[in-house]
Amino acid sequence: MTVDLPDGYDGPPLADLAAAVQTDGDETLRVETPMTGAAIGEVPACSPADVRTAAERAQQAQQEWMARPVSERVEAIEQFVSLVRGSQSDLLDLVQLESGKARYDAMEEILDVVATAGHYADRAPEYLATERVPGVVPLVTQASVDRDPYGVVGFITPWNYPLTLAISDVIPALLAGNTAIVKPAEQTPHTALFVAELLRKAGVPEGCLQILPGDGERLGEPLVAAVDAVSFTGSTAVGREVAALAGRELVPATLELGGNGPLIVREDAPLGRTVTGALRGAFASAGQLCIATERIYVHESRYDGFCDRLVERARGLTLDTSFEWDPDVGSLVSERQLSKVRSHVDEAVADGATLLTGGRHRPDVGPYAYEPTVLADVPEGSAVACEETFGPVVTVTPVADDEEAVARANDSEYGLHGSVWSGDADQGRALARRLDCGSVCVNDAYISMWASTGAPMGGRDDSGIGRRHGKEGFEKYTDPQSVVVQRGHPVAAPAGVPNRLMAATLSWYLRLARAVGLR
Ligand code: NAD
Repeated sequence: MTVDLPDGYDGPPLADLAAAVQTDGDETLRVETPMTGAAIGEVPACSPADVRTAAERAQQAQQEWMARPVSERVEAIEQFVSLVRGSQSDLLDLVQLESGKARYDAMEEILDVVATAGHYADRAPEYLATERVPGVVPLVTQASVDRDPYGVVGFITPWNYPLTLAISDVIPALLAGNTAIVKPAEQTPHTALFVAELLRKAGVPEGCLQILPGDGERLGEPLVAAVDAVSFTGSTAVGREVAALAGRELVPATLELGGNGPLIVREDAPLGRTVTGALRGAFASAGQLCIATERIYVHESRYDGFCDRLVERARGLTLDTSFEWDPDVGSLVSERQLSKVRSHVDEAVADGATLLTGGRHRPDVGPYAYEPTVLADVPEGSAVACEETFGPVVTVTPVADDEEAVARANDSEYGLHGSVWSGDADQGRALARRLDCGSVCVNDAYISMWASTGAPMGGRDDSGIGRRHGKEGFEKYTDPQSVVVQRGHPVAAPAGVPNRLMAATLSWYLRLARAVGLR
C-alpha cells in the first residue's frame, strides 16, 4: 500500500504504532486522512478470536493490577499526565491527521485528557476508601461499603474525539483496579495506539490496556461477551445494539450517544459574547461533537441582530486542513459524514429553509471540507431540525418568549446537552433547569461544562444511559460490596419470644429510630 502523509505532518511513525497490535490473523484495516483523502497506513484488523485472547490477557493482568495499592496506580496515572504534556506536538499532529479537525480543536482533547486524568488521580484514594454507613441498630450494627473493580472493562469508541474518548473514560476504570480493552473507531486507531503506549511508558503493565482495532459490527458481540462491564460512546443506533448485547450477557453498560443540542438566546443576552459562544458550539471539530449546538432559539426582539452578527462572524471563520494553528474549522471525517451533512442542508433548503451562509462542499480545501453553515426558516419536521447532523451546520429560529424557547428546545428525542444565554445568571440557571438534558451551560456553549470534571456528564432519552465525569464517572467502574457486622444477638426472635411480639418490637423500633433521627 502506498502511504502518502500530508505536508507538515511531524507526528510519530504510524507503522511503529500498528506493530503493537496483537493479533493471530493477517487482516488489515486501511486508514486514510480526511485532510487529503490519502492512505496514511494500515493496522492489523483484530478478529473475534483476538478479542477472546485479549480478554484472557486482561483478566490475568487485572489480578496483579488490582492487588497494587491505589497509590501505585495513582503514581502511574500522574506519570502518564506528564507524558501526555510532553507529547503534545505528536498528539496534536496525530489527532489532526486521523480526524481532520483544526489544531485548536485537537488541543481541547489534550487538555481534557490531562484534566480528567489529574482529577481522578487526585480523588481515587478517597473514592475507593471503605465507607461507613448507618447500621440498623447504632453501635450494635456496623455497616460499611467497599468498592471492587468489575474486572475487565470493554470500551467501544468513536472517531470524533479520537484521543479523549479512547482514554479519558479508561483512566477512572484503571484507577479503580480494572483492566481495559479498547475497540477504537476504524478511522482513528493510531491515536488510540499512541496513547496506550504512553500509559505503558508511565508504568501501566502490558495487558492492563489493550487496543483492538477492527470492524465494530464484527467485534462488538465477542467483546461484550468477554468483558465484565461495557462503556460505549457512539451513535444512538449502535448504542441500542450494544445495550441489547449487554442485556443478554447481564453486564453493566454505559451508553454515551448522540445529541441535537439546543441553544437559547434570551431577550437580555449579551449578543457579542453569545455569538462567540454559539460559533464555538456549532463549529468546534466542524460540528462533529456530541454536545454541539445544532439548534439556536433567539428571542424575537434580538433575532435580526443576532443573525446578522452570527452570519458575519461565521463568514470570517477560516476553513482549512493544515497542521497550523490559524484555521478555525477543519474537515469532516469521511465521505459518509459529508454526504449526511449535504443531504440535511440540501433537503432543508429544498423544503423552504433560507441559507444565511455556507452550504457548500469545499473540495478545494479538502475532500470532505464543508463550509460553516447557518440556516433559517427551517421546516419543523426536517432532518436538520430533528436529527443529529454532526457537521458545521446550525439552525436559527425566532421565539416569542422563554416558554416557547423551552418547548422547542425540549421537542427532541435527544437529551444530551443544552446552552442558555442571559444577562441574568439566576434567570439563566432557572431556564437551564427546565431543559430536558443531562447537562446545560449558562453563558457558554459546552466547554465550561465538559471541563468541570467534577460534574457528571451524559444523556437523557435517546442520548444514552449513565454518566462520565464526577463521582458517578468513577463509581460506575466499581461493584459495591456491603459488609454488615452485627454484634451480640442477631436480628431474630430470641428463643421463647413469640414471632408476633418480635414483629411488633421491630416495627416499634423502626418508628422510634426514625423519630429520634437514628436512621
Ligand atoms: P458509531 O456508533 O457508528 O461507532 C462508534 C463505535 O461503535 C465505533 O468504534 C464502531 O466501530 C463501533 N460499532 C459499530 N457497529 C457496532 C456494532 N454493531 N456493535 C458494536 N460496536 C459497533 O458512531 P460514530 O459515527 O463513530 O460516532 C459518532 C456518534 O457518536 C455521534 O452520534 C455522536 O453524537 C456520538 N458521540 C457521543 C458522545 C457522548 O458522549 N454522548 C461523544 C462522542 C460521540
